[in-house]
Amino acid sequence: MDRDGTLMPDLHYLADPDATELASGVGDALRLFRQHDYLVICVTNQSGVGRGLFTEETMHRIHQRLNEKLRPYHASVDAFYYCPHTPEQQCECRKPGTALFRRAVEDWAIDLPTSALVGDRLADVEAGQRLGLFTVLVPEVAHEGLVNQELSDRGIRPDVRVSSFGAAAAAVLHRG
Ligand SMILES: [Mg+2]
Repeated sequence: MDRDGTLMPDLHYLADPDATELASGVGDALRLFRQHDYLVICVTNQSGVGRGLFTEETMHRIHQRLNEKLRPYHASVDAFYYCPHTPEQQCECRKPGTALFRRAVEDWAIDLPTSALVGDRLADVEAGQRLGLFTVLVPEVAHEGLVNQELSDRGIRPDVRVSSFGAAAAAVLHRG
């Protein structure tokens, strides 16, 4: 799962843990994943760390808050993997790079062919496709124009495109 624009609204370099909120439908959908024995792993680009906009400590507190908000739904994110770098640093972990996904696969003995990626941007889909994951694109309404532009520019097609996180979960759980 991507974080900003997927599990949470994209709040642009969120630096205030108290402003952490779940995107619509995420609590119920993550409970469904848990009921179906899926691990929920979040892989997120957090260049705000590298840009000095917030500390890793603040980011960890945001992730803690996210899981607190999921508790009433009997859901949680099992692990967070983050890239703290800016694009200029040309690391291998920033999505669409796959280094963080590969680390998660090793840490959690994840079976890629039966796993799925859910994200709001093309960089998410591209990373998922490099790994052979089933990819679900859920663009935020505010970014739909940008995402359509990226789609036509890059020639990348997700396996499924939906308009809500709940629909993304259904697409993953009922895929053929
Ligand atoms: Mg995102």
